[in-house]
Amino acid sequence: MSNAQIVLRAQGLTKTYLTGPQPVTVLREVSLRVHAGESLAIVGASGSGKSTLLHLLGGLDHVSAGEVFWNEQPIAKMAGNAQDTLRNAHLGFVYQFHHLIGELTALENAALPLRVRRMPIPAAQNRALELLTHMGLANRAAHLPSELSGGERQRVAIARALAGNPKCLLADEPTGNLDRENAERVFDTLVQACKTQGAALILVTHAVDLAQRCDRMLRLDDGVLS
Ligand code: ADP
Ligand code: MG
Repeated sequence: MSNAQIVLRAQGLTKTYLTGPQPVTVLREVSLRVHAGESLAIVGASGSGKSTLLHLLGGLDHVSAGEVFWNEQPIAKMAGNAQDTLRNAHLGFVYQFHHLIGELTALENAALPLRVRRMPIPAAQNRALELLTHMGLANRAAHLPSELSGGERQRVAIARALAGNPKCLLADEPTGNLDRENAERVFDTLVQACKTQGAALILVTHAVDLAQRCDRMLRLDDGVLS
């Protein structure tokens, strides 16, 4: 694994929120790296800083100290639109609540990252259908999110996150809203789909037993990663 390309790296990340009456330090000098095709689970209790960490790794919030690198490029030094372009190409996101667009079919939702890149509709939908088929959802492609079960919606969200062939997926409690059986199925689908595509996966969860299905597991405890 050590010879594989490092697709995402964080060095000494600290995050202090200054919004309330007193500063709140949520992350303390967190460092990590993931290689191409590797799955890394980060487990932590509610409030331990998991979502904050993923937001920093995704360049969606500013660090108080430290640096984030995508493909070994420090993202803080990039201009805003260069960062947006690289984020769109480099990263995919999966959330606890699917964030699918209710007016679009499963196929249209999954094709969205490619449409954002101006890929023509037929090519984008071919690619999206390929992924939905891989997720066992070929027969649900024309359905709206409201017509799908929770587990099916999460699998559509995974297909959407992978549609643009990102180097790294960031997943925030992607099975946190599912019953046990569906959580296991969606979790395995996510890990397997990333392996198949050679994408790295950084997944945060409070479920240790699921996390153990990843290549590597770290713990986040009161903002300290170990
Ligand atoms: P987790 O995802 O592990 O549940 P979070 O990263 O959401 O944890 O939150 C970690 C801590 O940071 C919590 O104590 C939360 O209250 C605090 N926090 C999160 N966002 C903000 C914010 N915008 N301003 C102040 N405190 C915040
Ligand atoms: Mg969270």
